[in-house]
Amino acid sequence: MNDEHDIAERKMQFLFALRSRGVTDARVLTAMEKIDRGMFIRGTFADRAYEDMPLPIACGQTISQPSVVGLMTQALRLTGREKVLEVGTGSGYQAAILSQLARRVYTVDRHRRLMREAMGLFRDLDLTNITALSADGSFGLPDQAPFDRIIVTAAAEDPPGPLLAQLKTGGIMVVPVGQSDTVQSLIRVERTEDGFDYSELLPVRFVPLVEGLGRDV
Ligand code: SAH
Repeated sequence: MNDEHDIAERKMQFLFALRSRGVTDARVLTAMEKIDRGMFIRGTFADRAYEDMPLPIACGQTISQPSVVGLMTQALRLTGREKVLEVGTGSGYQAAILSQLARRVYTVDRHRRLMREAMGLFRDLDLTNITALSADGSFGLPDQAPFDRIIVTAAAEDPPGPLLAQLKTGGIMVVPVGQSDTVQSLIRVERTEDGFDYSELLPVRFVPLVEGLGRDV
């Protein structure tokens, strides 16, 4: 099942699924073609890396569904010049995609283990414009703020205040909001001269944004 031809076929279907679910931005598709999701999934589920579904990773977390990664990335409207903050490194897959489309990516996770494993992958893939840190991302990264773009890949009840405060005027944030265990809404927040404009993009289901650092070492 794992010969080269079969993998090429699965990758083609992967890209087809992305397009059919609305990921149409050519630069986003190129980044998702280049960054191999198979590198970010270990063990039992590695075989399903090219299916359009979220999959379990370490620390009880999940790597997001590829079409959702694509739609969130597309919603950020990156031009290549931005400084981006990602809250929720997880496997590192989303950060790797962002690294292809932005100038600099800061990614934080409350689980040190996930952050460290992701850092190893960024090194192996020579993605030198990503900085990974372990921190409670609900407070953002005051030392590096403000950001042109912020992407939160865990669900909050509301967009966290410190993240709104660290978004530049003209900047965009995408964040899933709603109670965990129910369907959440992915929203896009644009900071204008006078305040914030909110738009609802699609229903999603993410693991919750949790306070404080994880207990793993
Ligand atoms: N973007 C990831 C998927 C993220 S899953 C990927 O591409 O694989 C959500 C992640 O958010 C988990 O790894 C979880 O540990 C992290 N998380 C949850 N609450 C957090 C918080 N307050 N600060 C930082 N990370 C958090």
